[in-house]
Amino acid sequence: MYKTEIIPIKPGGSNSYLIKSEDGYILVDAGLKGAAQKLLGELQSLQSKPEDIILIIVTHNHYDHIQGLAEVKKLTGAAVAMHKDEIMKPGEEDIIRKNESSLIFRLIVKLFEQVNPNIISDTVNVDIDIVDGMNLREYGVDAKIIHTPGHSPGSVCIVTDDGQCICGDTLFNMFPCTHYPIIVYNRKKLAGTYRRLDSINPDIYYPGHGKPITREMFKTKIMNRKKYFKTGGQ
Ligand SMILES: [Zn+2]
Ligand SMILES: [Zn+2]
Repeated sequence: MYKTEIIPIKPGGSNSYLIKSEDGYILVDAGLKGAAQKLLGELQSLQSKPEDIILIIVTHNHYDHIQGLAEVKKLTGAAVAMHKDEIMKPGEEDIIRKNESSLIFRLIVKLFEQVNPNIISDTVNVDIDIVDGMNLREYGVDAKIIHTPGHSPGSVCIVTDDGQCICGDTLFNMFPCTHYPIIVYNRKKLAGTYRRLDSINPDIYYPGHGKPITREMFKTKIMNRKKYFKTGGQ
């Protein structure tokens, strides 16, 4: 049994997690529009209130993780923490399209955007710039946030001192054949991120999509793919 309690919740889109802290909860990722209502239900079942959320960490700025962020921030009043490399400047191309994924995938994203005009998220002010190694002790949790670029430029993971890792879309566990993210912003950086995670060696990873991934799964499905690390790509 781990000392740090991590509660998976599903506000639509991606996985979100509540980290139990000495002072309340830290929410990791907001999910899609309508997330606030779902979060409220989760908090009620934990006999908790929206104000008990003391911090919102955004693993990365993809719509399935942040579309509900504005409403969740409004509901909880919590500060939002994100890495500065995820912040889009006005007129900048969406980071979901600025990637090294296949042409087919980029076309799918383009089509998807056309049939889903609601993909655009409301603007949210980021209160805390995440820097690599940011300690969460001041929020009542023995954990650090590390910068793990690859899936997107400013993706981050939360690693607890007791060996758990919330990894956003750095790892997937939705399909039987692959645990690599479908979208890759930079393959070289992603390979570097995997090496770093391997050296930290958590027992368990909680991905942005799908079920938890054990250390053994990480080693066999990711680290044993030597070709990925040699070429810096899949
Ligand atoms: Zn995602
Ligand atoms: Zn993503």
